[in-house]
Amino acid sequence: MILISHIRQFIFCPRILYFYTFCDIKPLYPEYVSLGTQYHNRQNELFKSRKFLKFKLPIIRVYNNLYLQDLSMSGIADLVIECEDEIIVAEYKNQNKPILSTGAKMQLIAYSILASKYLNKPFSKIMLICSNNLKFKIFDITNDDLIKFDKVINSIKKMIDQEIFPHSNASIAACIQCEFKNYCDDRE
Ligand code: SF4
Repeated sequence: MILISHIRQFIFCPRILYFYTFCDIKPLYPEYVSLGTQYHNRQNELFKSRKFLKFKLPIIRVYNNLYLQDLSMSGIADLVIECEDEIIVAEYKNQNKPILSTGAKMQLIAYSILASKYLNKPFSKIMLICSNNLKFKIFDITNDDLIKFDKVINSIKKMIDQEIFPHSNASIAACIQCEFKNYCDDRE
């Protein structure tokens, strides 16, 4: 079973997923992690009073922190917006501009696949939300994105099946902000 939150970590650096899966290490998280948690908690409170009219979508229902699972993946989506003819999965980002990384895109595709099965409606878009006043941006999902997603999932399964400590192409900047930097000093 792949935790969907691990997909982004795998793309950031495959070694992170290895550490989480096979090593009994409790890393020290950088400060931005607790700031992100505070931001999410604030959005959970604001959810109770929001109508999401700003999105200008034909919304039927919005699900907050929806747990999703199938036989191969599981995770909790920040928001699943059920519209008349489609679903759109959204993620809160504690940043000023809605910038979509590859890791975030792959993660949102994973939630979208499960939410699409759960609500029996198709998906073709994902959304990022930032700030406390629902600044948002919608991104189209292309066929190439879905092909890339399949490749990432297959790579994750292979690494987990083979239990081989992976090589990393993470940049020095990535390593500096990584919670495992004190355990990973033999990069190749
Ligand atoms: S320190 Fe760098 S190479 Fe090691 S797990 Fe973190 S990002 Fe990857």
